[in-house]
Amino acid sequence: LFRSDCKYTTLKRSKLVEFLKDGLKDDIIKYDHNIEKIEKNNDQIDLSFNKNIKAICDYLIISDGVFSKGKSLISNNKIKPAYNNSIAIRGNISRNKIQNLNQNNISLFMGRNFHYVIYPVNIENEKLNFIGVLEYQLTANELDNYSLFKEKTFIQSIKDKLKNKLSITILENIENIKCFPVFVSKGYLKPGKNIFLLGDAFFAFPPSFAQGASQSIEGASELFENIINNKNSFYDYRVAKVKMINNRSKLNHFAFHASNPIIIFFRNISLKLLTKNKKFLENYLGKIYKN
Ligand SMILES: Cc1cc2nc3c(=O)[nH]c(=O)nc-3n(C[C@H](O)[C@H](O)[C@H](O)COP(=O)(O)OP(=O)(O)OC[C@H]3O[C@@H](n4cnc5c(N)ncnc54)[C@H](O)[C@@H]3O)c2cc1C
Repeated sequence: LFRSDCKYTTLKRSKLVEFLKDGLKDDIIKYDHNIEKIEKNNDQIDLSFNKNIKAICDYLIISDGVFSKGKSLISNNKIKPAYNNSIAIRGNISRNKIQNLNQNNISLFMGRNFHYVIYPVNIENEKLNFIGVLEYQLTANELDNYSLFKEKTFIQSIKDKLKNKLSITILENIENIKCFPVFVSKGYLKPGKNIFLLGDAFFAFPPSFAQGASQSIEGASELFENIINNKNSFYDYRVAKVKMINNRSKLNHFAFHASNPIIIFFRNISLKLLTKNKKFLENYLGKIYKN
């Protein structure tokens, strides 16, 4: 379900990483460094890595993702992401296996406790991406056992669950299926004036609004502006934006996964009307995409 006149931008992760690294000098990124300690010494920050490597810096920007070790270190292990009661399913699907779909745009399918998207990335004849989000309860033990998500039996059990949620042609033709639990943030940590958290390390959203990576990049650009202009307002704007996006992500998740027929009825009518309503789109999406 998407308006055909609205183009959705998609990009492969590897291409984005290449693009971001392109402008950096070769020796800027230090590999094989494992952060072990972060200490504040007035305005100076002392970093200790494995193999007894030390570094001193004026600014520390932590952007090591949702399970951020940097964030754990500066919060004394107090702030942890929470399991969002859902599993993400990723895979690829050949274009010739899909019919009746605009293969140049993103398609969204909504179902009971499950939604999925199919979209192209970059090259015309390359396989399409499939991403699904399935509500799924996991015990603490299962969550601790990360290898579970790679087990063939687990992946098969997820496929079995999808049998009545997805057309059999699509399900049988998804290749390279990978499953992983979705974790989200529950609160904000704003460390001292020269330590910053960015991207998922600062706040990880439910994936239903597809904004995490975009917001990580946007946040990085804002932080750059703040630092070079000696401003002190990075978190004010960022927190407001994160709240706005988190609320929309949660609303999307609820609407996409609705199972009550009355809610589904009203959702479908609302979507038909709202996706044509410029004022609504300006308000709901414009505030996110435009600065
Ligand atoms: C199912 C799903 C679908 C999504 N779809 C979209 C989408 O369509 N659009 C969108 O914009 N976003 C999407 N997102 C969100 C997006 O993936 C994340 O928000 C984004 O990757 C966050 O970027 P990041 O740089 O903060 O963290 P990451 O991409 O997680 O990068 C963190 C990096 O830090 C490294 N690292 C971790 N620990 C350490 C350490 N101790 N030392 C050194 N390095 C370390 C990791 O190896 C990794 O390279 C989706 C998320 C999910 C779960």
